[in-house]
Amino acid sequence: MNRTVKSEVNQSKNEPLIFEIKGNSLDDGPGIRTVVFFKGCPLSCVWCHNPESKRRERELSYDKKKCVGCDTCVGACPEKALDRGLPGFVNRERCSLCLKCAEVCPSGALSAVGNRMSVDEIVREIEKDVPFFENSGGGVTLSGGEPTLFMDFASRLAARLKKRGVSVLLETCGFFNCDTFMKMLYPHLDMIYFDIKLFDGAEHLRLCGRPNDVILANFAKLYRKYRQGGTEVLPRVPLIPDCTATEENLSAIADFLRKLGVKKIGLLQNNPLWFEKNEMLGRSTDIETGSMRAWIDREKMERIRSLFKGIEIV
Ligand code: SF4
Ligand code: SF4
Repeated sequence: MNRTVKSEVNQSKNEPLIFEIKGNSLDDGPGIRTVVFFKGCPLSCVWCHNPESKRRERELSYDKKKCVGCDTCVGACPEKALDRGLPGFVNRERCSLCLKCAEVCPSGALSAVGNRMSVDEIVREIEKDVPFFENSGGGVTLSGGEPTLFMDFASRLAARLKKRGVSVLLETCGFFNCDTFMKMLYPHLDMIYFDIKLFDGAEHLRLCGRPNDVILANFAKLYRKYRQGGTEVLPRVPLIPDCTATEENLSAIADFLRKLGVKKIGLLQNNPLWFEKNEMLGRSTDIETGSMRAWIDREKMERIRSLFKGIEIV
């Protein structure tokens, strides 16, 4: 294989699948935004609210609530991978992802997650939303999954959007090579939403699949840069009951942020539907998640807010 071909193969290997482009979002940054969801993440948080974003590869989703029980799909499957006797209906070992079942399903219960899209195609798709950005102070949010896992692609996309006059916000788990990030993606960003989940390194490794030292160091670096006039960085903490939303964890995060001079934080309410989404993809975990599948009630929320004294909650 000559060098050119080899580099093209490597390049295409690191092109992301996009699992959704969602317009009219009011929850992913200022104004009305269009969110581009990248598929693939270096972390593997047990409670991930977008579990369809965890793996880079395409997946088959089965939504039992949409299924009308016609079994048309069962006859269409060449691998005999659909079996009513299985708890999740799809035998993932046998499934070759040919998607013949999704093609014949009349209700959309079976569907593919993840599409290959070029930067041009994404920009074209976003173009129709530009007037909404202009009127609301919104823009595009790169989310996932983890866009920095595809640094070259994400930076090309962000640069194109900036050239079009569109504001770009990155939602990140913070697990990336900071030097590469600063060189490639940072110059094209207007804002960064940076998730901090667990302060204890061992717990982070157990529940998110990676240690958190790189994440905390990256946050500190980016926040110092922001204080010197760089791109705004907003830390955000997902509130998962009995997991991230403990007094011990939140107090430790609050102390860390205060030392860096952080003035604002986002607290993300838990949405227990994450568990159903996992089932749709045939995922399971060895970790007991029962108590993580609850809403944070108002009283608990008030207690949590008091832990961040001196930091504005936005
Ligand atoms: S074809 Fe669709 S609606 Fe019919 S049984 Fe299969 S998944 Fe359910
Ligand atoms: S994607 Fe293909 S192999 Fe997999 S369950 Fe559907 S029809 Fe069967």
